[in-house]
Amino acid sequence: MSQEVRSVVIAGGGTAGWMVAAALARVLGPRLTITLVESSDIGIIGVGEATIPAIQQFNKLVKFDEDEFLKQTQGTFKLAIEFVDWYEKGQAYMHTFGPVGRDLAYIPFHHYWLRDQRTAGSMWDYSLNALAAQQAKFSRVERIPNTPLSGLTWAFHFDASLYAAYLSRLAQKMGVRRIDAKIAGALQAPDGDVRALKLEDGRELAADFFIDCTGFRGVLIEQTLKTGYDDWSHWLLADRAQAVPTARVNPLLPYTRSTALEAGWQWRIPLQHRTGNGHVYSSAFTTDERARELLLANLDAAPLADPRLIKFTTGRRKQLWNRNVVCMGLASGFIEPLESTAIHLIQVTIQRLILLFPHVGDYEARRVQFNRSAAAEYEYIRDFIILHYYANNRVGEPFWDAVRNMSIPDSLAHKIELFRETAGIFCASEDLFQLSSWLQVLWGQGVRPRGTHPFVEAIAPQDRAGYLRDLRHLFAQAAQTLPSQADFITQHCAAAPPASA
Ligand SMILES: Cc1cc2nc3c(=O)[nH]c(=O)nc-3n(C[C@H](O)[C@H](O)[C@H](O)COP(=O)(O)OP(=O)(O)OC[C@H]3O[C@@H](n4cnc5c(N)ncnc54)[C@H](O)[C@@H]3O)c2cc1C
Repeated sequence: MSQEVRSVVIAGGGTAGWMVAAALARVLGPRLTITLVESSDIGIIGVGEATIPAIQQFNKLVKFDEDEFLKQTQGTFKLAIEFVDWYEKGQAYMHTFGPVGRDLAYIPFHHYWLRDQRTAGSMWDYSLNALAAQQAKFSRVERIPNTPLSGLTWAFHFDASLYAAYLSRLAQKMGVRRIDAKIAGALQAPDGDVRALKLEDGRELAADFFIDCTGFRGVLIEQTLKTGYDDWSHWLLADRAQAVPTARVNPLLPYTRSTALEAGWQWRIPLQHRTGNGHVYSSAFTTDERARELLLANLDAAPLADPRLIKFTTGRRKQLWNRNVVCMGLASGFIEPLESTAIHLIQVTIQRLILLFPHVGDYEARRVQFNRSAAAEYEYIRDFIILHYYANNRVGEPFWDAVRNMSIPDSLAHKIELFRETAGIFCASEDLFQLSSWLQVLWGQGVRPRGTHPFVEAIAPQDRAGYLRDLRHLFAQAAQTLPSQADFITQHCAAAPPASA
């Protein structure tokens, strides 16, 4: 197909559908007719409430004011994920955003810390994000004053339904047409491209280009185009989740908590008006009844509803762009909610679509590039998630024994071995998780290097010790001056109480 794309139909109005609608309307609005079809009978998945810092770029693109966005979505700040009992029971560590320490003389910080580990304290004493998270504090500090040290790096927690609704209002204000109807199927041109959506009420909705955001159903990308799915459930065994909201508790923690359980893990996401909780597990190693029992036993406040069961298959669509259809969100695959990467993948897919938009001429090269980049991105995230499961010491528990003994992708095996040799960490540009993330999770999951980098010896022991002491002091002092997250939110971005309260 080589005609100019002037009209786009987005199938599905969850987080993915409305994110792409808002972004395209903002960037290409005047030259593109955008229609979104969603079904209020089907609804949205309603989970997906923790993000990573890159979402700030999306917010800038659609011109969200951060305070207003947090008010509208009952949002809070997220500085880290705390992993509890993942390596072994009783142990916990943080995966914080932002750097750990500060590099010196071309050598990453962690080599110095490793060399003098016995006297240097915890790695997380060198992360302002970790210190603020532990103390339930937050402020928009981008630099530690009078130092070269960066301040806090943050993402958000928000209510998924409110977020989709907020984006929907914004996109419609920018001219996106919304149709509430069920899609019954698609009509294809003789060459196989999708020509129009067929709605259950008999209408046909034609367009030059289609974006499939219909969630796990994949109405266009799979049901119509039979694109195929790379199933990763032999590496990522979780295939079910049960989600339940609870009342808000204080202090309002500025981080997600992930607690490992018998056959999976439980999330805890604090919002302004409630806490989101969910148990992600493998149905091969436990039952829905047992999973529900564990979820309810691990709540820190009374549940506000019955747990809701969600089934999924981890993996990725074989092509994210097939013919004249691009898919995003859950229609494009699902790795695991463990590191809050799904909304980020929607965002980067939108960015890539804008960059490679088929506005003119034959777009085969753009399609191929789009799929190549998406494949690499998914695989790097996949490896990072597998690491959390694989490197465990929960010996004697069937699920954890199975994931510790599974064969892992070569790319991950290489990363682990590189770290084991002399704490080396190398990340490709498509790897969402860079040095600081790999470092914290490798270390937190008990992977230990056999040696340290020889070049750290170029700095005299007393100078190294002084450097580490000064850094620790500066981070501790900076954390002390921060207000609590609850106070910060009250002052800047408190949402109105929910209608039912
Ligand atoms: C257990 C779990 C936890 C998660 N946690 C996180 C997290 O913490 N962070 C994160 O980034 N991501 C998370 N995710 C992923 C996140 O929820 C999704 O990426 C995000 O919500 C986008 O979903 P979506 O828009 O693709 O799908 P959905 O929300 O399912 O939306 C699909 C849309 O398509 C419409 N639709 C479907 N079929 C039809 C049809 N036939 N006709 C008309 N309309 C149709 C629906 O009505 C709906 O509007 C999680 C996912 C799961 C399963």
